[in-house]
Amino acid sequence: MKNSKELLKTKIENQVEILFNKSLDEANALEIYQGLSNVLLETISKDWLKTRKRYETEKQAFYFSAEFLMGRALGNNLINLGLDKEVKEVLEEIGFDLNSVEAAEEDAGLGNGGLGRLAACFMDSLVTLNLPGQGYGIKYKNGIFKQKIVDGFQVETPETWLKYGDVWTISRPSEEVVVEFGDGKVRAVPYDMPVIGYGTKNVNTLRLWKAKSINELNLKAFNDQKYDEALKEVNRAEDISRILYPNDSTNEGKKLRLKQQYFFTSASLQDIIRKFKNIHGTDFKKLPEFVSIQLNDTHPVIAIPELMRILCDVEGLLWKEAWAIVEKTFAYTNHTILSEALEKWWIGLYEEVVPRIFQITERIHFQFLDLLEKKYPKDRARRERMSIIQGDLIHMAWLAIYGSFATNGVAALHTDILKHIELKEWYELFPERFLNKTNGITQRRWLLEANPELSKLITELIGDKWITDFSQMKNLEKYATDKRVINRFLEIKSEKKKQLAQFIEETQGIKVNPESIFDIQIKRLHEYKRQLLNIFHILDLYYRLKKNPTMKIHPVTYIFGAKSAPGYMRAKGTIRLINEVAQIINNDVEIKDMIKVVFMENYNVSSAQFLFPAADISEQISTAGKEASGTGNMKFMINGALTFGTLDGANVEIVEEAGVENNYIFGLKVGEIEELKKKGYNPKTPYKEIEGLKRVVDSLIDGSLDDEGTGLYKELYDSLLKGASWHEPDQYFVLEDFEDFRKTQEKINKEFTDRETWGKKAWINISNGGKFSSDRTIDEYAKEIWKITSQKI
Ligand SMILES: *Cc1c(COP(=O)(O)O)cnc(C)c1O
Repeated sequence: MKNSKELLKTKIENQVEILFNKSLDEANALEIYQGLSNVLLETISKDWLKTRKRYETEKQAFYFSAEFLMGRALGNNLINLGLDKEVKEVLEEIGFDLNSVEAAEEDAGLGNGGLGRLAACFMDSLVTLNLPGQGYGIKYKNGIFKQKIVDGFQVETPETWLKYGDVWTISRPSEEVVVEFGDGKVRAVPYDMPVIGYGTKNVNTLRLWKAKSINELNLKAFNDQKYDEALKEVNRAEDISRILYPNDSTNEGKKLRLKQQYFFTSASLQDIIRKFKNIHGTDFKKLPEFVSIQLNDTHPVIAIPELMRILCDVEGLLWKEAWAIVEKTFAYTNHTILSEALEKWWIGLYEEVVPRIFQITERIHFQFLDLLEKKYPKDRARRERMSIIQGDLIHMAWLAIYGSFATNGVAALHTDILKHIELKEWYELFPERFLNKTNGITQRRWLLEANPELSKLITELIGDKWITDFSQMKNLEKYATDKRVINRFLEIKSEKKKQLAQFIEETQGIKVNPESIFDIQIKRLHEYKRQLLNIFHILDLYYRLKKNPTMKIHPVTYIFGAKSAPGYMRAKGTIRLINEVAQIINNDVEIKDMIKVVFMENYNVSSAQFLFPAADISEQISTAGKEASGTGNMKFMINGALTFGTLDGANVEIVEEAGVENNYIFGLKVGEIEELKKKGYNPKTPYKEIEGLKRVVDSLIDGSLDDEGTGLYKELYDSLLKGASWHEPDQYFVLEDFEDFRKTQEKINKEFTDRETWGKKAWINISNGGKFSSDRTIDEYAKEIWKITSQKI
């Protein structure tokens, strides 16, 4: 009899032999990675099948999302299966280090940022809670672009996660469906990715659709030597799942994007209906008893008219019957109030791409107008504001609220703003439909996997229940006054900072001091997130140090990581600015390493797993009211970073849980911004009056800095002091919040040196992170929206 380690080794050996016809001593890290991943698939395949059968007859929740930012799978799956230690040992025996084998895997970067990562955390929580549910999305050939920094500028190169094949999905050609557009049909082929839970045998599914053409090749054209023509249909079809739109919170008005949305929602609904019929026949009235569909933002909202089409045109239901079913099936999550991000489609384009869906959308629109006329017979202006079709635009958010039974915001403050400001009239019309579900993150990836050192300490103190019950973290709080525990935490933090310093040196070629304060802002680049405010303060600090060389500060390393949408010039200008300021400061010998600035190229899930555990300060400095929730803030908190932020999104709940005295809150609040707007905000006032601010802002145009003639800096300058046709000057209150930002940074710099007090504050944050587990969020969705229950196999 072989012991389990020998057995595991033999299995890897077999897989490497089958896949590559190599022996273990010939294989490289990538081949070991693929062989090992196949062994894991083999390990779970029976349970995966069993889970699917178990769920078939239960009510299920389907999560429709254009994005799933999964990151790497291997490390997470090993931990969730409890195989990490054993595999590490076996790999060492055959001469491999587990970390380097894991690093051979490309990130599955099928998302832009927070919204896509939320979907990924939700998948992990669903299965760990044994909940019957499934994700539906698109198998993009190219996910979020790879970012290179060339001469300080962002350069995008295609991401190619499928370059060496794809070990984590299996295709199911027998379940393919056909999706029909105005200009023809395409095949949708499903690829299933297993989602492995922690401490459970259940294995859930993420189903991603790939677009294929109906005909493989136009043979006649090929034989006539018209090669491009021969592949035209193939390419047109495959274009649909070729690329993830690399924009974040702005609406990309592209025909292809609408095609993507219809493609994956239509395929998913056809799939759901077919499976429903297999079990329940055509008793569609029962559909809402067995199916809940969550629409992650407006991207999949076209599913609402599509389900009407399937029920009426295909299944022969009456409109009224179908609508009653649709209204009870969908729920919608709102992720933003930025008006440019509220999706609207031009009717001409919509009608061309999906003509039948356009007719149905129009009918829904007229039906809703009837309702509004009954409800508000005298208020024509209100009816116009709430119309689904206004002029020649279709408002997808309005369609979503009308066509679903629940609309939720993603943090308490955000939901309040929806109910009382942005969607006030909708809340008046459908008060029972509005609810809050504060976002969360999975502690399995963001603590257990990313920070094994801290995880070990936590488990030593309170046992390992926290891994699946994060409310247990509260039991750590009593150690906040235990000097030995706090010192151990500080040692771990110091170790994580050393690891990050090494990673930075390897990847960016910059030496940073692990004793310095690690002040980190990592998130998509957007004006409302205010990376500009951060870099302005750094530049101001630099100028002050130059002027006053005897000024004493504790050394700080400011770390940024951010991708900009390729066409978003202000965001790209900010990236160039950060990189230029970094160059100047890092190379100035007079500064003597008191400040360092690092821009981490290509911020993604894998680099995030290095960054969050090493932070002392979590920069969450969005303009109050603009960040719906944020989830990066939560990842920092549970790794013991203190939040330096505005009262925005989930920051509000973070300080509610951990105490405002254990974090650093600054800046205008939502109400103050409203007031200031009413009064009339003039950014020239802080620009002139706040000491040092003019010098910093003027650096954009006075020759202190050089954007190589691109005009990017001048444009940034104008956005602050002049405004533009579409916005007021300094619409995100960068200049108004500057002074409080600086004052609070000074306080942080002083207080950091009292290591014991700092450690205690960090510890209190960790102890009060329980609320921010996506297990809690998913439990709320399951009970209050989806009405699904645990189905453990
Ligand atoms: C968590 C996460 C985000 C979201 O960060 P926010 O600060 O909430 O905007 C974006 N990208 C990656 C890779 C993440 O892991």
